[in-house]
Amino acid sequence: MNITRSTSPDGVCVLTFDRPGSAANVFDRATLEELEAHLGAIENDAAVSGLVFTSAKSKIFIAGADLNAFAHAEERVLHDMGNFGHRVFTRLGRMKIPSVAAIHGICLGGGLEFALACDWRVATSDKATKLGLPETQLGILPAWGGSTRLPKLIGLPAALGLILTGKQVVGAQALKLGVIDEMTHPEYLLDAARGLLKKGKRPAPAKRWVNRVPFVFLVAAKARHDVLAKTRGHYPAPLEAIKVCTAAAYKPFEEGLAAEKHSFLELVRTPECRNLLSVFFLQERAKKLSVPQLGSGSTSLPSEREAAPLPKKIRRVAVIGAGTMGAGIAQWVSARGIPVRLKDVNPAALARGMHAIEKIYTDAAKRRVFTPAEAMAGMDRVTPLHTDVPLRDVDLVIEAAFEKLDVKEQVFRDLEARVGPHTVLATNTSALSIDSIASVLARPERLVGLHFFNPVHRMQLVELVRGARTSTAALESALQFTKSIGKLPVIVKDSPGFLVNRILLPYMVEAVWLFTEGVPTATIDRVMLDFGMPMGPLRLADEVGLDVAQHVAKDLERRLPSGVPINDTLEKMVAKGWLGRKSGRGFYVYDGKKESPAPTDDIRFLQAEKPRANDAATMRDRLVLIMINEAARVLAEGVVAAPEDVDFGLIMGTGWAPFRGGPLRYADAIGAAEIVRRLDTLGREVAPHFTPCDRLREMAHAGRGFYAKVAEPLVGADLRAGRSVSSLAASTSSGPLGERALPARPRETANAN
Ligand code: NAD
Repeated sequence: MNITRSTSPDGVCVLTFDRPGSAANVFDRATLEELEAHLGAIENDAAVSGLVFTSAKSKIFIAGADLNAFAHAEERVLHDMGNFGHRVFTRLGRMKIPSVAAIHGICLGGGLEFALACDWRVATSDKATKLGLPETQLGILPAWGGSTRLPKLIGLPAALGLILTGKQVVGAQALKLGVIDEMTHPEYLLDAARGLLKKGKRPAPAKRWVNRVPFVFLVAAKARHDVLAKTRGHYPAPLEAIKVCTAAAYKPFEEGLAAEKHSFLELVRTPECRNLLSVFFLQERAKKLSVPQLGSGSTSLPSEREAAPLPKKIRRVAVIGAGTMGAGIAQWVSARGIPVRLKDVNPAALARGMHAIEKIYTDAAKRRVFTPAEAMAGMDRVTPLHTDVPLRDVDLVIEAAFEKLDVKEQVFRDLEARVGPHTVLATNTSALSIDSIASVLARPERLVGLHFFNPVHRMQLVELVRGARTSTAALESALQFTKSIGKLPVIVKDSPGFLVNRILLPYMVEAVWLFTEGVPTATIDRVMLDFGMPMGPLRLADEVGLDVAQHVAKDLERRLPSGVPINDTLEKMVAKGWLGRKSGRGFYVYDGKKESPAPTDDIRFLQAEKPRANDAATMRDRLVLIMINEAARVLAEGVVAAPEDVDFGLIMGTGWAPFRGGPLRYADAIGAAEIVRRLDTLGREVAPHFTPCDRLREMAHAGRGFYAKVAEPLVGADLRAGRSVSSLAASTSSGPLGERALPARPRETANAN
């Protein structure tokens, strides 16, 4: 039973959602059926004078529709579910007695659509309470009345503001927008709901001026323009939502419902929807990740003999190095309630690090992510240190000092003498071998790579790097820690560039080759923006820093002879002091927040006099297929276990066109034989480094894709086996689109380090 019902003597009937055996309430067919049955019984019960809907879960009101059921449903079933949801929610809205949604915790997607069908809504001021309609981020639109009711309730501009971004708002914001009618402390939630019942049925809303023709068309045109500018037309769902919400704003209710159902059924068939859903399931997969036991065929033979058991739960952390990454990691970890000691040898760097942490907290408090008191408490959990102190009570040390092997070796030698026998050691290195660093340790088995991405507070991915000697227990501790701080892990083998940089660097290097051949900077970047990347490869190189990109590329070239050979363009630029954004000049010239490609006269010495003919399709193939070729090698070498890891890592680590589902989903959509054919052509006509790797040739020969079932690309088999409730709740804060949505802001993709 998902819903319980009780009626008090005063005629108030409270229906409580409480899905058995689950932390979340979701709407699936059974829950809708139960709800309909309750409504039927209540309609026949003259003693009931008002309805209150609430949840027994501590942090969730209703998290949305069950996406597992939805992802595998046939069209007929989806059609039926659409109608059913409309029928039940419309019945609720039309009941003779008033109804109130008493919301505490997550109220998203179908959950908010349900609440919108009630006469009144009251939500708690608690941080756990978040309301939103994130459907467009999954390639669909709210289709249980949300696209119709919300514009009518709060006006088209505000409704589009929520629906197109999929953002989640807390109680205070929801109240300001008019999504809810009251906000209260959790203790008074039911009292407040009863109070609202006294207002009776909600009067039909007066037609708002913002919903009048022709104003709605102006709003729609502006919204469409903004969406197209952001998405380059790659995401059909927001465009469809604009159309449906605009019509719903001024047309009769029934027409709105019919339009949203029609659009939903169209959208759900699109490859964009399939791929965005697959990204959602990849995130769910990461949350359930466990450490694979090494088989007998493994090349890694970690020592499983621990001198002391390593902690399952990390309670205290130390971070070594208070630079960009160390400060970012310390802030993130402290915000999760864990005390952090932040050590830097340089007092000025330590002060800068503390200042950076304070800034992240202050900015987040301004956006109401934290209250000022929470921000202050978070800040207080970070203890700055610039001298060596014992760290025996620390469960995990994360080293984020300079990217130099001798520096890291020295740090770990010193650390080993000062930490407790149970302490897990981690390095945030982006490129150095975990095994090499571990070689200075008496207990190398407790060193693991924890590769966070920059900026830490925005990037959810963490590469967990298993060195040849890393023990399962150390990896397990690191994995639990990563999950506990709300990051999404991917487990990778210790190898050059790990996963993300290994695939991204050849792409950036190829972009530099195109530049050297004489293609204008903006043309190269436009090709990849048009493809769906959040940022062009040369802008990305500027963000990363040309010196850093050069260093990592050289390192990969040396350690991976099969990869892309680099030329001397970056070296020449670095020699001129053009380091990218940080020096104000790289492939672009930066002026405050604006940038423009470096003047032709300045870069002439770097480019071929007679440009090579490169049409857009060839450039796209050169840039994209180079990544696919490298990804195939990564899989063949066992750097990661599955194609899902590659797609997940690249989307979460670089913003790789989510609507294409990741490089390997994209490759499967093209087909291995076609990829091999194109790479062979490039290998002959452009350069030998395009030659397809053996894995790709084998796949082309066998007619196989990267994924087992090309025809059913929604979810990996393991997910179906371990089926659990997956709802929109999980898709949003961590969604491929979400607030960091659509093309991400530049700094969010700056990784390659
Ligand atoms: P950074 O230069 O900003 O900071 C390094 C800090 O370490 C400096 O403040 C320095 O004073 C301090 N330090 C140096 N030696 C130390 C020692 N022995 N003990 C304590 N502190 C010491 O570097 P960063 O960009 O924060 O990178 C740190 C690590 O993270 C590197 O290994 C880097 O490859 C990796 N990484 C960087 C990024 C990125 O985008 N910057 C991304 C992922 C990983």
